[in-house]
Amino acid sequence: MQIHDLIGIGFGPSNIALAITLEEKKTEECNVDAFFIEKQPNFAWHANMMLDNTHMQISFLKDLVTMRNPLSHFTFINYLHQKQRLQDFINLKTFFPSRHEFNDYLAWAASHFNNRCAYGEEVLEVLPEKRNDEVSLLRIRSRDSDGVINERLTRNLIVGVGGVPSIPECFLPLEGDTRVFHSSGYLREIAQHDSAKKIAILGAGQSASEIFMDLHNRPNAPHVDLIMRARAIKPSDDSPFVNEIFNTDFTDFVFSRSDQDRTALLDEFWHTNYAAPDLVLIEQIFNVFYQQRVAGNARHRFLRRHEVVSVNVLPEGIQLVLRDLNADREYSAMYDAVVLATGYNRDYHKSLLKPLLPYMGNFTVDRQYCLQSTPNFIPAIFLQGACESSHGLSDTLLSVTAVRTDEIGRALLEAVNQSTAKQTDNPIRAVAGR
Ligand SMILES: Cc1cc2nc3c(=O)[nH]c(=O)nc-3n(C[C@H](O)[C@H](O)[C@H](O)COP(=O)(O)OP(=O)(O)OC[C@H]3O[C@@H](n4cnc5c(N)ncnc54)[C@H](O)[C@@H]3O)c2cc1C
Repeated sequence: MQIHDLIGIGFGPSNIALAITLEEKKTEECNVDAFFIEKQPNFAWHANMMLDNTHMQISFLKDLVTMRNPLSHFTFINYLHQKQRLQDFINLKTFFPSRHEFNDYLAWAASHFNNRCAYGEEVLEVLPEKRNDEVSLLRIRSRDSDGVINERLTRNLIVGVGGVPSIPECFLPLEGDTRVFHSSGYLREIAQHDSAKKIAILGAGQSASEIFMDLHNRPNAPHVDLIMRARAIKPSDDSPFVNEIFNTDFTDFVFSRSDQDRTALLDEFWHTNYAAPDLVLIEQIFNVFYQQRVAGNARHRFLRRHEVVSVNVLPEGIQLVLRDLNADREYSAMYDAVVLATGYNRDYHKSLLKPLLPYMGNFTVDRQYCLQSTPNFIPAIFLQGACESSHGLSDTLLSVTAVRTDEIGRALLEAVNQSTAKQTDNPIRAVAGR
């Protein structure tokens, strides 16, 4: 079986950016054999939230490469040039392309690596390959769309799997009920409910707000309850001094702080990224509610300071028992569908890497995003997008992606060079070759 220098789990923006970095760092002496495994059948960036009239929340200059190498073939500007839209894009006078266009850019970048990515395979687990007392390789088990299990060996690993939907506890027993779904599956699921008359959205962030406007504009004109604990929908603060927290050198600052300082920093700036839609979107929603009052109808309700106490599945629909926190009273409401725009968890790597637990301790990473391990564990394992608590709020976004892959790339090249030097001593490597 071939042994790769690196296997990447997931081929979203983070790992595409890494593939580009490795390609651009390639020399005759060092050509990392990297291979990626992606569970979707083809590249797609948050496909079920690809709503019309949505835009990037970050400048296109924070694309996959520009902050690392503005001369790269893979800049957003070169993509526009290749597609013969550069002049027209300039005339748009924006830093914020539509999400459709950015998805097309990412797909264009990903297409350069089609021979280095297995699409339609979901990685199930990562197993240690032991020789005597030392773990020198990793065995990656994945399942393809026909249910066939594949296994691959690698010397190093990078996990870039994004977030997994965060589902409030009272909705967990309803898993499998298609009337309740997370925003990450919105377009796919709402297509099954195009006759729904009454829909609840839980959440106060960008996704909740976008879904509200999408439902408002749908031809079946459903009644929508927008339910949130917050008193108001607050906008994301992207003013310049605040935005400095997304600068690449801020990562050094965050990483160098004590745990206590880091937690305080995350708390202070939490609202730049979470439960914070764009101001324009908030204004649109406010206008919808205002025009309702003008027209004297009550199609939608803005249920602020509300929380869901319990959920009941009844023949006539999904019943939510709601607590009005202002009035301190409970009441129930019936819905044909419930959308959970309740965010994401970033700890999926822990279940994928569970078989490695004895070597990993509590999954702490170093500055280069490499997991700390016991001395008898040789492979380097890097995490992308799961290090917010150690590296700061930019970690789950595109802000530092280009520069982060440079930092990881350097550390990886070192690991690959070390394993090449040891190669002849290792019986597995000697048999398998490269
Ligand atoms: C709707 C939406 C809009 C956003 N807009 C912005 C924005 O404008 N600006 C910004 O900076 N950030 C934005 N974000 C944040 C987002 O996290 C980043 O833009 C970016 O997607 C992070 O890239 P990633 O590769 O780390 O994760 P992802 O894009 O989530 O990619 C992870 C990939 O891993 C794959 N995968 C997961 N598990 C497995 C497995 N077991 N086996 C194989 N493959 C697997 C997934 O299918 C996916 O393709 C947005 C997020 C959402 C949800």
